Amino acid sequence: MRVLKFGGSSLKTGDSMLDVGRIIAADQERKVVVVSAVSGVTESLIQFVSSQRKENEVKDFIKGVRDLHVRLLQDAVKDEGIRQQGIERVERKLVKLERTLYGVMYLEEVTPRTKDFVQCYGERLSVIVVAAMLNDLGVKAVPVDADELGIITDGTFGSAVADLDATRWSIVPKVQEMFYKREMPIVTGFFGVGPDGSVTVFGRNGSDYSAAAIANALDAKVLEIWKDVDGFMTVDPKIVPSAVPIKTLSYEEAAELAYFGAKVLHPMTVEPAKAKNIIIKVKNVFNPEAEGTTIQQKGDDAKGCIKSISCMRDLAIVKVFGEDAGYRTGVMAVISQRLSDADVNIYSAVTSQTCIAMLVNKKDLALAKKELDDIKEGFISKIETHEDLALVCIVGEGLGFSKGIASRVFNAVAKEGASIGLISAGASLVAYHFTVDKKDLERVTRAVHQEFFGC
Ligand code: ASP
Ligand code: MG
Repeated sequence: MRVLKFGGSSLKTGDSMLDVGRIIAADQERKVVVVSAVSGVTESLIQFVSSQRKENEVKDFIKGVRDLHVRLLQDAVKDEGIRQQGIERVERKLVKLERTLYGVMYLEEVTPRTKDFVQCYGERLSVIVVAAMLNDLGVKAVPVDADELGIITDGTFGSAVADLDATRWSIVPKVQEMFYKREMPIVTGFFGVGPDGSVTVFGRNGSDYSAAAIANALDAKVLEIWKDVDGFMTVDPKIVPSAVPIKTLSYEEAAELAYFGAKVLHPMTVEPAKAKNIIIKVKNVFNPEAEGTTIQQKGDDAKGCIKSISCMRDLAIVKVFGEDAGYRTGVMAVISQRLSDADVNIYSAVTSQTCIAMLVNKKDLALAKKELDDIKEGFISKIETHEDLALVCIVGEGLGFSKGIASRVFNAVAKEGASIGLISAGASLVAYHFTVDKKDLERVTRAVHQEFFGC
């Protein structure tokens, strides 16, 4: 049994929908399909509820969303009856969204709960279109909403985590029943329901993670993540056009790359798959013959070599100085609690006796500084911030046990005349990362790629 996930960029046009359809219909094996919202829809839902709206704007907005999905149905579905059924389903789905948006408008407030509830409509609509397209190709596909199916989360709005045990209990019987009726579930990605029944999303691009949670619950053999790129690459091809796709990665390598900026996978996707030893394949909808990247227990044995370089832009460093910040116990706990309460993610932290340096998103910098300024415990003597940083992360199973890699990396950077800020090595056996000035990022990345991959 396989779980296949398709991203929004492969659902953009009638033609790309049909590419997806051909991939799904290519064999008779049982599968569960998970889809994201059609490209741009989630963003427009978030934008719509993010500012004050007038009554007629709600109407126009709903009409726009309806028309976009109806157009896709018209382009991808030939059979009149199937197409009509799809249109009716889309319109029925939109009733509740429209009423909710009027509610938001009259109340003039959007709670985190409402925001999650609204955001997930992109997926509730895309499953209808994908299922109709498959019905038209002769596949008995049925659209299913994750809350009906029972993808259970911890209930955190905006960035939920799946409760894999609870999810297993609720989805296994339902999926088995569908399989028994020879139906193929087309499931909404991106969200589930919390313990109190409220809709909670897994964070932007969270459909990969939905698919991994479903694969875990159903003990799938393979989880296929279908994107619009050939898999993980040795580096971002926009920076180094000669970048090449990577055939295999270990779970750890893929998790580090996803965390440190490779946009190929949602960073949480690896964990549920790894827990059940499920092979993840990252493939390209628009180039299905390409091998893609296989992620499994062991990558290949490229000892001493690095596999990939990932980059993150728009980072910042907050440095907290204090006489004995390093020696004193509990300092890190107070700081990280503060930042986590304010929803500021610390990407990486390095401490010394007089300073704790933390890497955060640039957009969170002002908030992080304010939160830390408010700490009254008295151990902070000064806070410094550094903006406009970027991070380079080097990943490979070989890093933990091979010698001389760090010096090759840093020599390559030094030759470019760039200076390195925060360095972290050893936290993970498979990844090193360091920061550079944002303006140096591309140059440094090219130099490091040249050093290890010769191009
Ligand atoms: N539609 C959601 C988003 O755009 C989830 C996803 O694409 O995976 O973030
Ligand atoms: Mg998306």
